[in-house]
Amino acid sequence: MSKKYIIIILFILMLLRNDETIFSKYYDHITVIDNPAEIDVLVNKMYKLNSDYVPKNLSKIDTKYAYDDKYLIEEAKNSFEQLSKDAKINGYNIIVVSAYRDYNYQDKLYQKYVNEKGIVYADKCSARPGHSEHQTGLSIDVMGSNNDYNIFDKSKEFKWMKDNAHKYGFIMRYPKNKEYITGFKYEPWHYRYVGINTAKKIYKNNITLEEYKRRNWLIKYR
Ligand SMILES: [Zn+2]
Repeated sequence: MSKKYIIIILFILMLLRNDETIFSKYYDHITVIDNPAEIDVLVNKMYKLNSDYVPKNLSKIDTKYAYDDKYLIEEAKNSFEQLSKDAKINGYNIIVVSAYRDYNYQDKLYQKYVNEKGIVYADKCSARPGHSEHQTGLSIDVMGSNNDYNIFDKSKEFKWMKDNAHKYGFIMRYPKNKEYITGFKYEPWHYRYVGINTAKKIYKNNITLEEYKRRNWLIKYR
């Protein structure tokens, strides 16, 4: 039997066991990111941002489109405001509930989950500090007209976002059934700005940022 099939069978067995600890295992080999300001930077459980990394040009999202004061890097902010404005014209209400979060905030958030429910749960529902995309200033959590980001996929806005976000440079970062690639559970509310060209490619090919980066690296080092 080839190595490929053995890996596939092991993966299926892992799924059948419904092993909750899989979300922690992605932290086994960590690389520190040396290009944190790149628009398509890959931040996940394997690629970590330095604790002192703060994006340079953070800009406040118009409070028409955000709950409270929320910040993104300027390019992402402008694009999101346009997205939200266009959505509104069509009768959809898309509001940011979380955007830039610094290292310390993420540290506290993660620790809160650990203290309340333990590491396995924390790793399933949150990111360890340095491993959250929110520290890049390129990610948002959104809510629709049902007013709860947790059930964003039950809102009419969800479908609109799914079909249109890429036109504004945003991708759904943690899709269903891609947990084994992203290392994160399905999060219908979490969108990531990667720039319009990249977002269109990711959308068209129905892939994740991890797969997109891998393909590019393969082409680069062929
Ligand atoms: Zn998020």
